[in-house]
Amino acid sequence: MSELVREVLSGDRRAVARAISLLERGERLDELMAQGGHAHLVGITGPPGVGKSTLLNHLALAYRQRGVQVGILAVDPSSPFGGGALLGDRIRMRDLARDPGVFIRSMSTRGAVGGLALATGEAARVLEVAGYEVIFVETVGAGQDELAIARLAHTVVVVQAPGLGDEVQALKAGLIQVADVLVLNKADRAGAERALRILEEMVESRPSPEGAWRVPVVSTIALDGTGVAKVVFAIEAHRAYLEQSGKRRAREVAAARVALEAALQRSLLERLGSVALGDAVERVAAREVSPHAEAERLLDALARKSADEVLSGGDD
Ligand code: GDP
Repeated sequence: MSELVREVLSGDRRAVARAISLLERGERLDELMAQGGHAHLVGITGPPGVGKSTLLNHLALAYRQRGVQVGILAVDPSSPFGGGALLGDRIRMRDLARDPGVFIRSMSTRGAVGGLALATGEAARVLEVAGYEVIFVETVGAGQDELAIARLAHTVVVVQAPGLGDEVQALKAGLIQVADVLVLNKADRAGAERALRILEEMVESRPSPEGAWRVPVVSTIALDGTGVAKVVFAIEAHRAYLEQSGKRRAREVAAARVALEAALQRSLLERLGSVALGDAVERVAAREVSPHAEAERLLDALARKSADEVLSGGDD
């Protein structure tokens, strides 16, 4: 077992930070990824400014009061920069930062396709291996990256706030569809009651087969912590539901699929190399060949190359 794996397993915070930095840079930590764990992964997502960070602060405190070790990953797909620069801006968690039972980290990646979901899932795994029991992954917005990240979570909390059109935007972006818990934050603001009704109607209008999870709609005022206990209750109820219904395993299989597909894409692109890929892109751009035909050709070329490597003993 490598030094890094041993240190992460022992809960060494510096090792955890180092491992996540390596993942951000696109390095592989295969040995760490194969370690076991039982963390509950909670995705928190919603448009910027609705109060996700403020709410997360209270949620983390609530779990800490129960003696639970809490990991927090704040993911910003729009930022190409790593190194946790966003942390001070996005997370108002000074009271948490000094708590040894809390690990907070903001993340970004090089912007490779699928890279963010892959690196986020792996960072969450690092926290899990290090002994964090509830891991929050906070993302902004409603792009493909956020949906992919949401699919990694056991429980997805979608946060909204009263305001013109927000509810409709969320619906369009498919965020409501992935919600296991819906939170209407800023319940102190004008229009909160109406927004709450709209969200409740959305949830009620969805088909709900026998035995399906009924998405709770919780209103909160994250500024003073009002309603936060109800959010914790909803998250825990969903966790119990997943376990009792056997759906936890289905979630994990779905997350494994997201991770494997991203890893497959990355491995393929790496094996092809930028030159081969660049040439292929030019041919497709010039309409000399269709994307599908070019993809098939590249795969065939890779397969031939692998066969040559096998025949020549595998080392090049
Ligand atoms: P995020 O971008 O979704 O993480 O949102 P933040 O947590 O950064 O909050 C955005 C702004 O909304 C901040 O100025 C918060 O103080 C404020 N805010 C958060 N929750 C509430 C709330 O429940 N009511 C009101 N009125 N403001 C809030």
